[in-house]
Amino acid sequence: MYDALTTRYTFSCPVHGEARVLLSSFRRLERLPGTAHPAVYRVEFACGCGGEHPGLVTHDDLDWAPLGLGEHRSFLNLMTSRLDAAAGELGEVNVRRLEGGAWPWSFFCYPEERPRPVFPSSFALLAAEGPRGLVGVAVHCPVCGRVSVNLVSPEHVDLPFHNDAEVGVVEHVFGADAAALVEEFRAELHSASFDVRRLLLG
Ligand SMILES: [Zn+2]
Ligand SMILES: [Zn+2]
Repeated sequence: MYDALTTRYTFSCPVHGEARVLLSSFRRLERLPGTAHPAVYRVEFACGCGGEHPGLVTHDDLDWAPLGLGEHRSFLNLMTSRLDAAAGELGEVNVRRLEGGAWPWSFFCYPEERPRPVFPSSFALLAAEGPRGLVGVAVHCPVCGRVSVNLVSPEHVDLPFHNDAEVGVVEHVFGADAAALVEEFRAELHSASFDVRRLLLG
């Protein structure tokens, strides 16, 4: 499903049979109601064939497989981590980074006016049409629950621990309604009214 070497997810494509895509090629993520062990997310991704297709991703594949911790994350808490089971080499390196306080993913929460650590399962919408090849990402803040839209490099999304020093922030407080969010996300991305904020991460 997720290949840590190529940082790509494998889905099925009705044209090519198989599609291998980066996280930044995801367009929409939504947790399937009623799924818990494991939680499953329905995603739509932009495919190499030019279309957009649906796919399913487990919570572990979204948040922990990129860290090499897909099977061990139940022992891990982001801020106070302890890994009891033996993870692979990649997992060990990343656990040390987490213990050192590094954030694998982050975003700037506009309502709170501060950077926050986050996991891909908190991403709601992504769009590739930002200026200068940047990716627009709508994030549900895990702390305040509100949505912020940041403009980031594809690497900021695709590579754990690759945090942009500065990100574009849409100065707009988004509503909670999912359908309205899609509309607002599009409108704000094209308005190009971004303010640059420093993530100021270690
Ligand atoms: Zn396709
Ligand atoms: Zn927040």
